Amino acid sequence: MIDLRSDTGTLPTDEMREVMKNAVVGDDGRGTDPTVAKLEELSAEIFGKEAALFCNSGTMANIVAVLTHVKRGERIGIDPNSHIYSSETSIFMEDYFGRKAEFYRANSMGRPEMSDVRNLIERRQIQLLCFENTLGFYGGTCLTAEELADYCFEAQKHNIPVHLDGARIFNAAVHLNEKVSELTKSVDTVMYCLSKGLGAPVGSVLCGSKEFITQARKTRKALGGNMRQSGIVAAAGIIALQDADRLKDDHSHAQMLFKAIAHNPLIRINDASIQTNIIKIDISTSGMNLREFVNGLKKEGVLVKEVDGQHIRLVLHKDISTVHVGEAADSINRFLK
Ligand SMILES: *Cc1c(COP(=O)(O)O)cnc(C)c1O
Repeated sequence: MIDLRSDTGTLPTDEMREVMKNAVVGDDGRGTDPTVAKLEELSAEIFGKEAALFCNSGTMANIVAVLTHVKRGERIGIDPNSHIYSSETSIFMEDYFGRKAEFYRANSMGRPEMSDVRNLIERRQIQLLCFENTLGFYGGTCLTAEELADYCFEAQKHNIPVHLDGARIFNAAVHLNEKVSELTKSVDTVMYCLSKGLGAPVGSVLCGSKEFITQARKTRKALGGNMRQSGIVAAAGIIALQDADRLKDDHSHAQMLFKAIAHNPLIRINDASIQTNIIKIDISTSGMNLREFVNGLKKEGVLVKEVDGQHIRLVLHKDISTVHVGEAADSINRFLK
């Protein structure tokens, strides 16, 4: 089986397992785990922020960020096709955290409409603005540092903070050939995932000002998010950060796979959207529904995931080699003959 459903399934490297075995640990709930502290310092430095907070997942890091930024009943400007809105639903559920969503629209590449963003800031009384980079739902497309700065400039005029869901920000940095800190300099807070393309087994990190992270630490504790000897997993995260450049292999594999299947008339792919490690495929011309398509490919040995009613995605990652890419392309073309 070639598993192209997600980059979350990536397995830790031998080097990660070795440093995990030997990690110096403490009790991070009491702030005394030196390896977690080291990962947080390193993250703050790479992201150009004063401080950072290690969380067990990206979902936890985003929830901690949002709950720290805004109170129950306050409004958040967001794309309905973002991970925060579509997957981290407790934020917006009245029975849970009761924050309110105000939507801006985005174009087919995921770029937010500036007029919508401005309207939310000026007329809809939002207290927080959220963006995502790379944009998972749109096929892993990137926002540039300049684009992000333009939105943030509008928000700052009205003292509205900006949170960036940077689960795959390292993919954006590699694609844009930009430093991560350049992509995050205009946002107030940002979270990124260690456990996707970077290959670590567990964890995400939230970065922001010292004052914000002090508050966020209390939010994490309130949510039961404090871990104890978490230096064991943080140690793998430190290795993952050192290897971030390897993401360029996933991107070239995505291009390779795209080129091998793009000619097929039964599927449609917007080639401009393939910037990082995700290929989003429109299957509506195949004559199959999603279930038939996904199950059919599974029989050919390729696992893929649905994005919405008419799209599936292929995600390239560390455990997919160039040979796998060739095999996956053959299987897909055989299936779509
Ligand atoms: C994966 C992901 C998250 C959440 O991360 P988990 O560790 O799976 O909770 C948040 N935002 C985006 C864009 C993601 O892709």
